[in-house]
Order: sequence, then structure tokens, then C-alpha cells
Amino acid sequence: MLDINIQAVLQNLYNKQQHYGSVYIGQQTLYSKQNIDVICPIDGKKIASIGLSTAVQIEQVVAESQSAFKQWEVVPAPQRGELIRQFSVLVRNHKTDLAKMISLEAGKPIQESLGEVQELIDVCDFAVGLSRQLYGLTIATERPNHRMMEQWHPLGPIVVISAFNFPMAVWGWNVALALVCGNSVIWKPSCQCPLSALACQQLLVQALTALNYNPAISSIVFAQQQGVEQLVDNKKIKLVSATGSCQMGRAIGIRVAARMGRTLLELGGNNALIVCPSANLSLAIRAITFSALGTSGQRCTSLRRLFIHQSLHANIIEQLKTVYQTVKIGDPFNPENLMGPLVNQVAVDTMLTSIEQAIAEGGKVICGGEIITKADSGFYIRPAIVQISSDASIVQQETFAPLLYVHSFDLLEEAISAQNSVSQGLSSAIFTENLQESELFLSCIGSDCGIANVNIGTSGAEIGGAFGGEKDTGGGRESGSDAWKNYMRRVTNTINYGNDLPLAQGISFDMP
Ligand code: NAD
Repeated sequence: MLDINIQAVLQNLYNKQQHYGSVYIGQQTLYSKQNIDVICPIDGKKIASIGLSTAVQIEQVVAESQSAFKQWEVVPAPQRGELIRQFSVLVRNHKTDLAKMISLEAGKPIQESLGEVQELIDVCDFAVGLSRQLYGLTIATERPNHRMMEQWHPLGPIVVISAFNFPMAVWGWNVALALVCGNSVIWKPSCQCPLSALACQQLLVQALTALNYNPAISSIVFAQQQGVEQLVDNKKIKLVSATGSCQMGRAIGIRVAARMGRTLLELGGNNALIVCPSANLSLAIRAITFSALGTSGQRCTSLRRLFIHQSLHANIIEQLKTVYQTVKIGDPFNPENLMGPLVNQVAVDTMLTSIEQAIAEGGKVICGGEIITKADSGFYIRPAIVQISSDASIVQQETFAPLLYVHSFDLLEEAISAQNSVSQGLSSAIFTENLQESELFLSCIGSDCGIANVNIGTSGAEIGGAFGGEKDTGGGRESGSDAWKNYMRRVTNTINYGNDLPLAQGISFDMP
């Protein structure tokens, strides 16, 4: 089991390779014989190995999560909120160490990792308030002496599958809301970021035990495809919240649908930004840069497609070229570096293959795409810009890397239509000072994405809004607004406090 002192864990990680378990049920650690290595993106070296859960262990974690749920669902919601409040205090106290773990495993620049931990804190604060606001409606009835209302009840054990690029915040969005809603949570983190997951589990278990709750309310399973399938096929799992590629979401979604289970899917994006003639160019360039280069282009909301009005095309491309050629890339622990490595060699190879395919489809590389280091010294590559037709087939895919496709347009309606023509529907933005243009973009005939912004970039959402996307992005909404409803079941109650039994719709069914 991990030392409670996260700083000491980090120290260990830097100094020696460690082996971690396959399943964590509250404080209990289970091991298996099948292990996989965790490779650090910063230097290409092994930092740890983790066990992969066995079929028997997965059965055990579901059973223990189920019995912990039975105890947790009857705890009043504001008391469940108090658990999240105490957990968030621990997260605050360990903010820097947690951020270092994210940078170590995901290669994310330290400033962004600190931002991710802050996001975890923010969603906890939101969930604490929410724990006193799980409101249902009362509804006017057509029958005398009757009352109709809605209640929201906990669901049961929930599985959270998370992607490598937000190894703490994505779980945070889910677990904070799921727990105040009265559910137990089994987390299947990315095998790239097991230590970030274990650190979060440590702190949550610490808060659970301090309040004398069953620590099995929170579990972690390290698994690959087979283990995940076993987990999500289990009918005792009442919701599968999965964040990752569209390919993963499709595979999981079909399985859970086959057993009539519930999913909450947060999948890949292919995000676009439109720059209109009236745009404030200084804002636009900064927004494009952060959206395209932040997290080395490895955010679900990263900017992939840039539509520039033809009158501005040459000017914007020149400015972007300067930024792309001078952006500091290197060790993510050095705060001067705005970009770290890609997550692994596969990500580097995928970016290079996409550039090759773009060229084959008539694209022109404007800058970037050069490998900076050899694979055994980290996965660093220069970000690239490619000028290409917006209907090229490579442009329809999400390449999870700092690769930006640029297109020029004449009419805004054409740009919006091209933006919407891809299968994903996560994030979008327009830069304009023209009210008619921005309102068109936000209207029902404008952007078809779950996120549509005006004069800010495609990435960097706050936790207060519902986060998620349409079409192949999965349709799920997490985090703020009323996303909590995804973690509860709604029951409609009709109460008759009279002496008659009138039927709805005026139906008469009187016995002779
Ligand atoms: P990924 O799809 O490879 O993996 C995500 C998770 O699913 C991991 O835990 C992984 O182990 C598991 N997984 C993958 N394939 C599986 C399969 N066939 N069966 C069972 N489990 C499987 O994604 P990634 O590389 O970790 O992350 C990048 C992707 O995630 C991008 O597509 C990105 O857009 C997306 N993402 C989306 C959001 C969102 O909120 N919409 C947020 C973060 C990342």
C-alpha cells in the first residue's frame, strides 16, 4: 500500500522502481501475477509496474462496493457532502505533490497540472453545495386531494473509466458528484497514470476512515480490455461513466446497452475555431495558441481545426508560425516550458502518420512535426500546422497530438457547416465582434457541439457548466449544472390523501 505521505511516494518514484497492486478496495490491496510497466513520458524510462486485476478480484470488488453502497445510500446527503469537504481539504494540503504526480505520469506542464488539481478542488466545492440541493419537483395534479412529486435516489455501485490526459480531474468530476448522490465508486484509471489514481484513492480513503465510513465506498481496478469488459458487463454496476476515445466509448457503450445498463460517455473531440473579419486578433491568437498547444494538444477540447476568414489568412498564419517555432518545449517540471512531451511513442508515431496522410491528401505543412528526442529520452515533438481542405479524410479524425489543420473561408455559414460536418461534437468557438455572427453561431442552426464559445478558445472549461459533447463524443454531461442527475434515479410519486379514487384522464372504471 502507498505511503500516506505523497511527497515520500514521489521521492521513491524518482529513486527506485516500484510495484503496485492490481485492485484497491478501500484500504485493502490485492495483487495479481500479471503486471504491466508504466513508462514516464518525460524520459522514456520505467517508473513503476502495476498488477492487472484477475476475474476473481473483479467479482470481489463489485461485491464489496455493493455492500458499501448499502451503508452509504442511507447516509443523509449533506453528511455525504461533508465527506467531500474533508477530502477536498486533504487535496488542498497536497496540491503541489498531486500536481507533480500528474506531470510525472502524463507529462503535463506543471502549471497545467496544478490547474488540474485545482479543478478537482473546485468540483469538490461544487459537490458540497450540491449535497444540500438534490431537488425534485412538485407537480400540479389533475386529481383532487392528490399530490405529485419527484424524488432522486442513489443508483448503486458506479464504474468510472478515465483517460490518461486528465488523470485526476475526470475522476473528480465523477466521484464528487457520485458520492454526494449516494453511490459507491469503482475507478478504472488509465494504466498510464496509476500513481495519480492511487494518490487520490489514498486521500479519499483517509477522509472516509476519519468519518468512520466503510472505505470500500471507493475502489480502484487496474485492468485492460478483458477486465474492463467483465466489470461493465456486471448488472450490479448501475452506471458506467467512461471518458476516452470514441472507439473505446463505442465498444463499452454497446456492451452496457446490451444489458440495458446506463452509460455516461465523454469521448473524443475534433474541435474547431472560426476567426471572422471583425475578430480581436490579439485575443484570437492567444486563444488559438493555448487551445492548440496546451497539454501538447492532448486535451479532449484541444483545437484541431482552424477556420480563418480569407481576408485574415496570411496575417494569422504568419503570427502562428512565429509562436509555433518559438514555443518552449521540454521537461514539464520546468515552468518555463509551455509544452511537455507526448504521452508515448505511439502518440508521436500517430502524429507523424497523420501528417503524412494529410500531405498525401493535398495538405501543405506550414511548420513543425520534427521529432526533438529519441524515444528512450522522452517523446518530444514540435507542434505542426497543416493547410488542407476541410473535407479531407484525415481531418475527420481526432489525432491526439499538437497537429492543427487550417482552412480558409469566405462566408460564415460555410465555415459553420464545415465545422459541423465531422462526426465528433465536443467543443467549438468563434472570434467576432459582430453580434449577428456570434448569435448565429450560438443558435440552433449554428455550432452543433456541446460547447460553443464566443471570443474564448475551445479548451479550458470551468466546472460550473455541464461538460460534454454531441454525436460521436457520446452525449454525456458531467461536472456542473444539473449533471448530477446522471448519478441518480428519478422516481415520480403520486399520493392520494382523499377518500375517492379518481382516475387520470377522466377514465371511469367503477365496479358494478
Ligand atoms: P483511451 O480510449 O485509449 O482510454 C481511455 C480509458 O479507456 C482508459 O482507462 C483505457 O484503459 C480504457 N480503454 C481503452 N480502450 C478500451 C477497450 N477497448 N475496452 C475497455 N477499456 C478500454 O483514451 P486515452 O488515450 O487514455 O485518452 C485520450 C482520449 O480520451 C481522446 O480521444 C480524448 O479526446 C478523450 N477524452 C475525452 C474527454 C471528454 O471529456 N470528452 C476527456 C479526456 C479525454
